[in-house]
Formats: sequence, C-alpha cells, structure tokens
Amino acid sequence: SSAITKSTKIVLNLESLGSLPADEAGPLARYASTIQAQRHDYNGKVLSIRTEDLKSLAIIYDMSPDELTTRLIEWGVLSPGADGSIYSDVD
Ligand code: C2E
Ligand code: C2E
Ligand code: C2E
Repeated sequence: SSAITKSTKIVLNLESLGSLPADEAGPLARYASTIQAQRHDYNGKVLSIRTEDLKSLAIIYDMSPDELTTRLIEWGVLSPGADGSIYSDVD
C-alpha cells in the first residue's frame, strides 16, 4: 500500500525550496506561493500543505505521490517527522 495516507503530515521547507533550480522546483514553488497567498501566510520557514495537494503535485510532475515524496526528500524540501521518520502515520 502507499506510504502516503490521509494522516501523513506534509511540511515543506521553504528555505530549501527557494534555493533549488527553477526548472525542477518551479511548479512546486508556484504551488506553494499560491497557498501562501491564499492563507496570507508569508513569513514562515515551513508550510504545511494538504495531502490532496501532494496528489495534485504528483500529477503535475507525472509521478506517483510516493515517487514525488522521495524526490522532495532528496531535494531537502520535505522535513522529516519529529521522531526522525518521514511519516507520522497513525492509521
Ligand atoms: P477553504 O478551503 O474554504 O478553507 C477555509 C478556511 O478553513 C481556511 O482559511 C482555514 O482557516 C480553514 N481550513 C480548511 N481546511 C483546513 C485544514 O485542513 N487545516 C486547517 N488548519 N485549516 C483549514 P484560510 O487558511 O485563510 O484559506 C483560505 C482558502 O485558501 C481556503 O478556503 C482554500 O481555498 C485556500 N487554501 C489555503 N490553504 C490551502 C492549501 O493548503 N491547499 C489548498 N488546496 N487550498 C488552500
Ligand atoms: P505544528 O503543526 O507541528 O507546527 C509547528 C511549527 O511549524 C509552527 O509553530 C510554525 O512555526 C511552523 N509551521 C507549520 N506549518 C506552518 C505553515 O503552514 N505556515 C507557517 N508560517 N508556519 C508553519 P506554531 O505556529 O507555534 O504552532 C504550534 C502548533 O500549534 C502547531 O504544530 C499546530 O499543532 C498548532 N497550530 C498552529 N496554528 C494552527 C492552525 O492554524 N491550525 C491548526 N490546526 N493547528 C495549528
Ligand atoms: P490535510 O488536509 O492533509 O492538511 C494538512 C495540514 O495542512 C493541516 O494540518 C494544516 O496545517 C495545513 N492546511 C491545509 N489546508 C489549510 C488551509 O486551508 N489553511 C491553513 N491555514 N492550513 C491548511 P491540520 O490543520 O492539523 O489538519 C489535519 C487534517 O485535518 C487535515 O489534513 C484535514 O484532513 C483535516 N482538517 C482540518 N481542518 C479541516 C477543515 O476545516 N476542513 C476539512 N475538510 N478538513 C480539515
């Protein structure tokens, strides 16, 4: 089964995102900027996004959500969980 479940907390590291090459991170950066604007949430170092948003982003990147998650970890954009794991599933 998928590593991405409804209880997966997705927290983007905005500083890492801002330092990535635009050709790779561009769609993700625009998506995050749009969410920030909708929330009027501009000053954070991280941005919590919806699990549904990761699925939308996976379609944009032509990957499965799990593949995109792996890519985000490689980019240093996805912060690991407080216990050092990537996922904090309680399902
Ligand atoms: P909306 O989806 O109608 O949500 C209205 C308000 O409900 C949000 O106002 C927020 O206060 C609260 N809310 C809805 N879902 C959640 C949630 O899962 N967690 C939390 N903590 N609060 C939630 P807000 O934040 O001012 O956002 C305004 C609108 O901006 C939202 O209206 C939505 O259309 C969009 N938006 C904001 N953040 C996101 C996001 O992460 N993903 C998506 N797809 N849209 C977002
Ligand atoms: P948390 O969700 O584990 O977030 C920890 C800290 O990460 C937050 O501390 C904040 O500094 C940062 N952070 C996480 N997501 C975002 C984001 O989307 N935007 C920004 N600007 N910063 C983010 P903070 O603000 O002191 O909040 C502590 C805890 O209080 C949060 O832990 C969460 O459990 C709760 N909390 C704060 N604001 C909300 C909210 O709007 N909705 C809900 N449901 N919980 C909230
Ligand atoms: P989720 O939809 O996967 O959202 C994960 C986190 O993204 C939320 O954690 C919140 O930090 C952030 N987030 C998502 N949408 C918004 C938004 O519109 N505005 C803001 N300011 N932040 C947003 P949180 O708040 O701890 O919520 C955990 C889960 O609880 C959410 O997962 C969602 O499944 C549910 N939830 C929370 N609030 C609402 C709500 O108002 N409406 C609905 N339908 N579900 C909600």
